[in-house]
Amino acid sequence: MTSPGLSRRASEIPASATVALADMATQLRARGEDIVDLTAGRATEPCPDAIIDKAIEAMRAGHTHQTPARGTAEYRRMAAAKLARENGIEADPDKNIVATLGCKNGLLLALMAILDPGDEVIIEDPAFVSYAPTIRYLGGIPKPVALPVEQDFRWRGEDLSAALSDRSKAIILCSPQNPTGVVHTREDLEVIAAVARKHNLYVIADEVYERMTWGDREHLCIGTLPGMAERSIDLMSLTKSHAMGGWRIGFAHGPEEVIDAMVQVQAHLTTCAGSFTQAGAALAFGEEPEAGLLELWEDWEARCKFVSQALAALPGVRCRVPEAGYYAWVDLRQLSMDSESVARMLLAEHRVAVVPGRAFGPNGEGFIRVTCVKSWDIMREAVARLGKGLGSLSRSSE
Ligand code: GLU
Repeated sequence: MTSPGLSRRASEIPASATVALADMATQLRARGEDIVDLTAGRATEPCPDAIIDKAIEAMRAGHTHQTPARGTAEYRRMAAAKLARENGIEADPDKNIVATLGCKNGLLLALMAILDPGDEVIIEDPAFVSYAPTIRYLGGIPKPVALPVEQDFRWRGEDLSAALSDRSKAIILCSPQNPTGVVHTREDLEVIAAVARKHNLYVIADEVYERMTWGDREHLCIGTLPGMAERSIDLMSLTKSHAMGGWRIGFAHGPEEVIDAMVQVQAHLTTCAGSFTQAGAALAFGEEPEAGLLELWEDWEARCKFVSQALAALPGVRCRVPEAGYYAWVDLRQLSMDSESVARMLLAEHRVAVVPGRAFGPNGEGFIRVTCVKSWDIMREAVARLGKGLGSLSRSSE
């Protein structure tokens, strides 16, 4: 007898390329293979000691139980302090903030709070690999809108308007952008805000890379633009900035009605975010980043520059220094091989794992994404291996 079978959604929605490739690289390394893993955006460094100490202290003090679904009062107060200090947002910790297990969980809660089956959500193409699947798991319909290279990976109002229908409910914006490394300017955000206001849409802004803007670029929350506070949901976390991905901790900020609905969903799905993770994260959000962290961010910027410039020097390869975040978005469209075959070749022949651009959407074809924030030793070795691999490709496409 056959089994009752999986749901159509579970069978049809593809695996997360970032997580699946990272898991595969981990497995190969565990078997003793010499793999340089540049797949998921995970830095090499551990998070600051003071934050670890704070979480341990909380555990020892007995904070090993569930917290309110919304998060502890202390955590939400510190999240609000961070928003006031860094983002110019005055949030009420009792109304506008919910503790989440990182931004992915924040996205799920937000979509569950606002989406009905059949509703459409505009996403970037290329975009982070999990946006479209999360929408589809909920019965929503992702509507990818290209971020054209010739427009510097930025949306024009008319491109967005052309994708709208009477089922459009929201726009998901990754700001700063993964995988292209773009920091949205006020003008870029105005374009999106104008469409959201005119068509009464929510904007969910995944701001996980907000603290890592390079050079003189600055992150701006779209919710601070006129008429946007009532329709914007900010997703923030310490995963990238504080190398705390394993803690699974972040928060969402938004209008009271949406946050209330997200709290209700959280209570059903997971009850709450972790108790001692909230305690450690409260410290991280409550204070200015410590000097060691600022130095680390500068060093990450130097690594991003080193990798992207080294790759841009290869024949047939184009790569700009990212404006923010962890990744080099490497343009291989002049080489005659699709992105998945390039990634397979780099792994099989040069023992370096990257994410094929196609995983981020049809418009990511012709690119690969390279994580730049592994240690300097790893990044030097990575550049040498990528140089050999991509060099052999450019010779064969001459
Ligand atoms: N968000 C990171 C990335 O884009 C980590 C992997 C994941 O959570 O999907 O690589």
